[in-house]
Amino acid sequence: MSTRTLQMTDALYAYLLENSLREADVLKRLRARTADLEFAGWQIAPEQGQFMALLVELIGARRCIEVGTFTGYSALAVAMALPNDGELIACDISDEYPSIGRPFWAEAGVDHKIDLRLAPGIETLDALIAEGRSGDFDFVFIDAEKQTYPDYFDRAVDLLRVGGLIAVDNVLWGGSVADPAIIKSTTEAIRVLNKKVQADERVTMSLVPIGDGLLLARKR
Ligand code: CA
Repeated sequence: MSTRTLQMTDALYAYLLENSLREADVLKRLRARTADLEFAGWQIAPEQGQFMALLVELIGARRCIEVGTFTGYSALAVAMALPNDGELIACDISDEYPSIGRPFWAEAGVDHKIDLRLAPGIETLDALIAEGRSGDFDFVFIDAEKQTYPDYFDRAVDLLRVGGLIAVDNVLWGGSVADPAIIKSTTEAIRVLNKKVQADERVTMSLVPIGDGLLLARKR
């Protein structure tokens, strides 16, 4: 029994995966395909993909945005949880990594739900706002350049409907946020974001210690 979040030992993590992971074969193979890449650590953990898919189902999401697609594991997990006419606008700065995931999206039969936009994420979010899509989205996943997190977050609040959900990845940043000796700009940006969201009365929020830390914020 514990009144605080457990330490996730290797044995406990193995137990968690063995007794709760329901990773579709296509997701498993995309994860394996990504594992060899230099930036494999950019991919979310499989239990986090499953958790995000559950959140998407819980809120009945139809229209989603992802800022930072990489090889498309999270996009695939979310798209598979959306109804057949669901929409996921996936933002990345180049096609180098999303092109790896696209065949897996097609194989899973969800590629028609994923609209990949190749541009800096802020430009895509601003374009959606300019198109009049404020308040139009149910779910936004933010997992791109950390220095831009506070700006992504504000755009996401704008684009969400009331009751819509934002999920921000890597908010514990390998634990470095809690080490005051680390003053790197990425770490500082995440600290700024966490404090900003804690104080943001526009949302109800919770920081969930899954994966590298997932900050959830529901628009009020
Ligand atoms: Ca990430």
